[in-house]
Amino acid sequence: PNQRLVGQTAIITGASSGIGRACAIALAREGANVVVNYIGNPAGAEEVAGVIQADGGQVRLVQADVSQEEQVQRLFAQTIEAFGTVDILVNNAGLQKDSLFVNMTLEQWRFVLDVNLTGQFLCAREAAREFLRRGPRPDVSQATGKIICMSSVHEFIPWAGHANYAASKGGVMLLMKSIAQELGEYKVRVNSVAPGAIRTPINRMAWETPQSLNHLLKLIPYKRIGETSDIGAVVAWLASDEADYIHGQTIVVDGGMALYPGFEDNG
Ligand code: NAD
Repeated sequence: PNQRLVGQTAIITGASSGIGRACAIALAREGANVVVNYIGNPAGAEEVAGVIQADGGQVRLVQADVSQEEQVQRLFAQTIEAFGTVDILVNNAGLQKDSLFVNMTLEQWRFVLDVNLTGQFLCAREAAREFLRRGPRPDVSQATGKIICMSSVHEFIPWAGHANYAASKGGVMLLMKSIAQELGEYKVRVNSVAPGAIRTPINRMAWETPQSLNHLLKLIPYKRIGETSDIGAVVAWLASDEADYIHGQTIVVDGGMALYPGFEDNG
């Protein structure tokens, strides 16, 4: 490990599984103190903490629902109590509630928007408040604070049967850019990572049988499914000073899924 985040503290939401888990482990390997936020899977959160501790990292677990304002405020208060401040937020928690559009209930719509978009708003706002309250820490980072939003290729690729999810990620794109524009002068650095298809519980049906995986690979020019470590590595770099001049951008990590792969065979 490069130890690019020594002395910094990171909150990763929804970190008891999948991409959040990999981000927590990757940031801890860079030397960051890590807060693993989870909602309903304490065993998963404990497992992540065990991996980080075995590597010699500092970790705390905090249960909180990112869509609930008081719980988000408690997540930040407990982090500051444990580690003094927050330097990095990885806004990762997210979910799907898929439905054909004509059958989609208001409840399904609101549930996905509440977690994927309002949750990112609440966490980013608390992070920004703490960054501005605390001010610069040039001994640990050139930026006063860093916010990384977990978006998706569905912030720009439409997704039939998932209108709520695609709308939430499209919303994340302009939320991220607007915060970046507003807080740049305070040296708060804000970006997104947009994964393509990554092997996690959220999309198990898309990769668990050879048939479904084969179908998925037709959408991926690089011809492999992404692994959570592919995202963890990019997030660790993006949080570090090596990426200090990247601000207001979405970094797409998708094996070429955004390259209109339907045109591959039209030579
Ligand atoms: P995952 O289901 O393993 O992870 C999502 C995590 O969010 C879970 O741990 C879940 O408990 C947590 N969560 C859900 N609601 C929450 C809430 N209200 N408060 C706190 N935590 C909550 O799936 P994943 O693939 O690792 O997803 C992580 C992020 O990556 C999501 O934002 C997802 O939209 C995004 N993403 C995933 C893929 C992919 O292919 N896997 C692609 C693009 C984007």
